[in-house]
Amino acid sequence: MFTSLFKAFTNLFKKPQTLDYPVTPIPKDKEYRGLIEYGEESCIYCLKCEKACPPGAILFVKTDNPSQNEKNKKGQEYNYNPYLCIYCGECVRACPKPQEALWQSNKKPDIAVKSDDVNTKWFELEKRHKEQ
Ligand code: SF4
Ligand code: SF4
Repeated sequence: MFTSLFKAFTNLFKKPQTLDYPVTPIPKDKEYRGLIEYGEESCIYCLKCEKACPPGAILFVKTDNPSQNEKNKKGQEYNYNPYLCIYCGECVRACPKPQEALWQSNKKPDIAVKSDDVNTKWFELEKRHKEQ
């Protein structure tokens, strides 16, 4: 009991172990691998990244009325869900043009709010992707 009281007393003078998030941002680890970035100009639309992604956080979905430029790109549009991504880097490893078409940055995703309706928009994309 004396030990517990001593610990409780000394803890009064220590810094808190918790962070005042989101006022104080969570520090990033040195090895942190974050958001996937996409370079449309370099992409050859091989879809290897989509196939390699374990949770399905990359989807190429056909655009409804592709312009000539989009037709050249097989009418496909790149979509990425940072809230589904587990930051494993498999997509970058699978990409034949790493660091040009696809790379991993140390950015974090924006904090999603309810009005963003992230899930509904993504479910809609998944539905379109299955139908194509
Ligand atoms: S980092 Fe992993 S989870 Fe995220 S998009 Fe690439 S393959 Fe998918
Ligand atoms: S793997 Fe790379 S080149 Fe292929 S579709 Fe994905 S981003 Fe484009």
